[in-house]
Amino acid sequence: MYRSHSCGELRESHITNSVTLSGWVSKTRDKGFVVWVDLRDRYGITQLVFDADRTSPELLEQARNLGREFVIQVKGQVIERASKNPNIPTGNIEVLVEELVILNTSKTPPFTIENETDGGEDLRMKYRYLDIRRNPVKDNLIFRSKVTMEVRKYLSNQDFIEVETPYLIKSTPEGARDFVVPSRMNEGQFYALPQSPQTFKQLLMVGGMDKYFQIVKCFRDEDLRADRQPEFTQIDCEMAFVEQEDILSAFEGLTKHLLKEVKGVEIDSFPRMTFDEAMAKYGNDKPDIRFGMEFGELNEVTQHKEFNVFNSAELVVGIAVPRGNSYTRKEIDKLTDWVKRPQVGALGMVYCRCNEDGSFKSSVDKFYDQEDLAKWAEATNAKPGDLICVLSGATNKVRAQLSALRMELATRLGLRKNTEFAPLWVIDFPLLELDEETGHYHAMHHPFTSPKPGQLELLETYPAAVRANAYDLVLNGNEIGGGSIRIHDKETQATMFRHLGFTPEEAKAQFGFLMDAFQYGAPPHGGIAFGLDRLVAILGGQETIRDFIAFPKNNSGRDVMIDAPAPIDKEQLKELNLKLDI
Ligand code: ASP
Repeated sequence: MYRSHSCGELRESHITNSVTLSGWVSKTRDKGFVVWVDLRDRYGITQLVFDADRTSPELLEQARNLGREFVIQVKGQVIERASKNPNIPTGNIEVLVEELVILNTSKTPPFTIENETDGGEDLRMKYRYLDIRRNPVKDNLIFRSKVTMEVRKYLSNQDFIEVETPYLIKSTPEGARDFVVPSRMNEGQFYALPQSPQTFKQLLMVGGMDKYFQIVKCFRDEDLRADRQPEFTQIDCEMAFVEQEDILSAFEGLTKHLLKEVKGVEIDSFPRMTFDEAMAKYGNDKPDIRFGMEFGELNEVTQHKEFNVFNSAELVVGIAVPRGNSYTRKEIDKLTDWVKRPQVGALGMVYCRCNEDGSFKSSVDKFYDQEDLAKWAEATNAKPGDLICVLSGATNKVRAQLSALRMELATRLGLRKNTEFAPLWVIDFPLLELDEETGHYHAMHHPFTSPKPGQLELLETYPAAVRANAYDLVLNGNEIGGGSIRIHDKETQATMFRHLGFTPEEAKAQFGFLMDAFQYGAPPHGGIAFGLDRLVAILGGQETIRDFIAFPKNNSGRDVMIDAPAPIDKEQLKELNLKLDI
């Protein structure tokens, strides 16, 4: 038996017990006549003591020679510590060692295995197995496991069945490139890895499975913007005989359950906001509503003077920064530089100070008098002491820019507290989205999403106006889930494909299986998928999903530990009938 207890288990009640522990040598302190060793495992740290008076000189010598991260087994007696450590649960006791076995030695680790390590990100990723020994990483993985267990518990209690769907499939268009896998047995042909199990879960509904879920890997070959992973995990769900309302209430239930079980937070209200409202109020379809700073549209109150920048803009819009009037001129200039950075892309920023005495001082006083500025304050809900920041230009761009500024300022002002949770549903998304480069429409969610009832005809005349039965669950400024009520009849699906630019032949070649299935009694159905990595990170009060993934990839999609992707040898290429053209 390697161990009778874990390294996090022993307390004063165990004093005098004989115990066996196994773990890693975290730290050794050699005082000559005594050696202390911190022994670590997943559960904690227990102090071992080797004492010249009470143990043999050989044993003391052995302890002295233990290196960091050696794996050892010890037998000994639990004794009371002379100087207690109130910071750890085992801090009142130590184990007086009688026997020591070195189970394995270790090279000196390339970084310290401590909460605050000296190892940079690259090094930690290369030796991720050592990184996982550190509390912050270990705790995140345990937290993730807890969240997934709660998901499974909740959904299975609600009669959902977990079904696995294949990874070697044909493309599912979810807006990214596919990862492809060559088929050896089918020369010149490729599988695609699923961007999501979308079509399979719909086929499960046709198969009568009625309530499905799966905690599943999805693969999307995208340029990796910050905090995206080429493979990520979804809580993928689908239900038959449901309307939007049924889905929203089912998954509000799941979200409430998770918040309660893993955070102890009870949330009743899941406000709903249409896509249009979210864009107008927050410039963003995933608004963080933990704080105000809502957009105030200023076209009406600015476009009647000689200020051409505003007069020629499609949208003039501002936000009130709470207590922002305390900013110095220099600080405001810095803010202006911030919005002018290429990542944000504004051309400039107009501001207006709201003085405590009710007067205003703006950067465009030449054009606007106090009465005008009072209207700005009214529209942005600015109070005395605030600062109004105003941007102008083409609607979509300006909204994105002001949204970036709003989030940045809220972060700086400490308004994005990671202990507060503010979920909401964003509903009524547009069905289609115009790709400005190609001039073609794409499905905003995916091609299987149904238009709102009665709007199918509008697709012919005014496609941009068609709204979808699609919804996103947003938490603290992040989209944590998204889904839709699906099309479940062949004709509507064919119409949708036509609007997306597929010829009937192309649609049949790619999605014939789905449209065939729709002819065999497909029930009305809909679903949702949650991004598990992000959900866990937010619940964990952090923003980086990589910290909650055991073996993540870096920003170039590489696993630096196993060094993948990597070339394959000539024989393998030949077997696959592949020739490289590089
Ligand atoms: N398959 C969708 C996605 O990955 C989710 C859904 O519509 O259920 O976003």
